[in-house]
Amino acid sequence: MSKIALFPGSFDPFTIGHESIVMRGIPLFDKIIIGIGTHSSKKQFLSYDTRKKLINQCFKDYPNIEVQFFEGLTIEFCKQKNINFILRGLRTSSDFEYERAIAQFNKSLHQNIETVFLLTLPDHTFISSTIVREVIYHNGDARKYLPTNIDYEYFFGSMKF
Ligand code: ADP
Repeated sequence: MSKIALFPGSFDPFTIGHESIVMRGIPLFDKIIIGIGTHSSKKQFLSYDTRKKLINQCFKDYPNIEVQFFEGLTIEFCKQKNINFILRGLRTSSDFEYERAIAQFNKSLHQNIETVFLLTLPDHTFISSTIVREVIYHNGDARKYLPTNIDYEYFFGSMKF
């Protein structure tokens, strides 16, 4: 059975912290699906389509990495798509407590799906989409927190606040 992992998140926007977790997951899985969770009520910075475009640009040379939207329970999406692993990154002890509860809950709902955690690289511990959004919002240069091979001007250059 091939090992398919879902890396779920909001990715608003996708940062070098996210990129690093996916890259480090490549040798562990046959395929990684980056799942953009969609919630009709959640306020958006980048639209869902823009987030998908950005992530696709980042991994254009990696045929085993796909980007998909999903809504509802992550575990249900995994069941529908025969995904057997959920990949998550851990930055801090508060990430751990939050993730522990979700992973144990998911395990109790579906025993065949394992959650795999990778500890963030030390240099990425403080990076979050929230802070990157804030930097961009205040016209700061967020380039060093975003994947290097994306067209920054295209995605963020024309933003007016
Ligand atoms: P969520 O909506 O689940 O908070 P995020 O897009 O913020 O989604 O994060 C998705 C996943 O990426 C989570 O597992 C999160 O812990 C991980 N992650 C976020 N930022 C980083 C980072 N800087 N380094 C490593 N992992 C990260």
